[in-house]
Amino acid sequence: MAPTSCSLCRDAKAILKRPKTGQQICKNCFFFVFETEVHHTITESELFKPGDRVAIGASGGKDSTVLAYVMKTLNERYNYGLDLFLLSIDEGITGYRDDSLETVKRNQQQYDMPLKILSYDELYGWTMDAIVEQIGKKNNCTFCGVFRRQALDRGAASLKVDHIVTGHNADDIAETVLMNIMRGDIARLGRCTSICTQGEDTIKRSKPFKYAYEKEIVMYAYFKKLDYFSTECIYSPDAYRGHARTFLKDLEAARPSAIIDIIHSGEAFEVKEEIKAAQKAQQTCKRCGYMSSNDLCKACTLLEGLERGMASSVITDRARKNMDAMGPAPDNIRTIPLFRSTPTIAVELPSQS
Ligand code: SF4
Ligand code: ZN
Ligand code: ZN
Repeated sequence: MAPTSCSLCRDAKAILKRPKTGQQICKNCFFFVFETEVHHTITESELFKPGDRVAIGASGGKDSTVLAYVMKTLNERYNYGLDLFLLSIDEGITGYRDDSLETVKRNQQQYDMPLKILSYDELYGWTMDAIVEQIGKKNNCTFCGVFRRQALDRGAASLKVDHIVTGHNADDIAETVLMNIMRGDIARLGRCTSICTQGEDTIKRSKPFKYAYEKEIVMYAYFKKLDYFSTECIYSPDAYRGHARTFLKDLEAARPSAIIDIIHSGEAFEVKEEIKAAQKAQQTCKRCGYMSSNDLCKACTLLEGLERGMASSVITDRARKNMDAMGPAPDNIRTIPLFRSTPTIAVELPSQS
């Protein structure tokens, strides 16, 4: 049987079937359509302006490695005029993050971008290894997620960047839409499909891979022979998300457009004004100055729980009240340095509260 020719250029031999569209295409056309779709996502949403300093949240995994490579390619091809940086967070997970950070350090050389690594240990005085030792493997991802969010903002502030881009792909966003529906979290459902988010005084965050399929990202990394780290975290990821992921993969197998269709459904939801109004107003954390909807930000609350040996319970508002009932935080607990007001990130003792 004669080899199939590429359905785009009609010239070269088709060597792959595009997961997103089912088209049989050649390698070069795949690279081009993948990159061009990301370019359109960026330009249609007007994500950047010339001169922006942009940090790429880099974990060494496939998504962020491909993102760094594609951002560099598009910045040069279309003259975006961006200053690109790699920003990595070291959660302190032995046998996982230490190895993946080695990959990021190689990417720094390969892509010729400045790299900043900020660790939980420097910022919070706790590694994820130590946190798991105290709280076990339940809720560890809650701590990790809250700590990473703030660490990324602080790392970005120290790089003086305007914008953080992350490698969240279409599968991640469709999963989040499903999870928010399954949890009945309508307020989050209204926000989770936004390509760009920005708090009161925080740095912009966006997802240029919002419409890029995970399978295509893997394919792109494979055919470009990119250097990435593919091991999963040793601490069990969120089980609920795992169910949403399996469900989504089943849907995708039956109909590949399911991923984009779910994102479009999420985008089309109109959240009632009363639900939006019920969201707490943003203020700044009284202890560390980071944005927060309560007196203390989530990271300060979780850190206080760890320091007082009550961490496994300090996640809900009620648990916070229970901790408050035990009396005020002792003066000698570690706290997070004041946001943006200090150039250093050393952990301060004693508490500022
Ligand atoms: Fe952190 Fe959980 Fe992700 Fe591991 S799986 S890096 S603990 S959020
Ligand atoms: Zn082709
Ligand atoms: Zn705080």
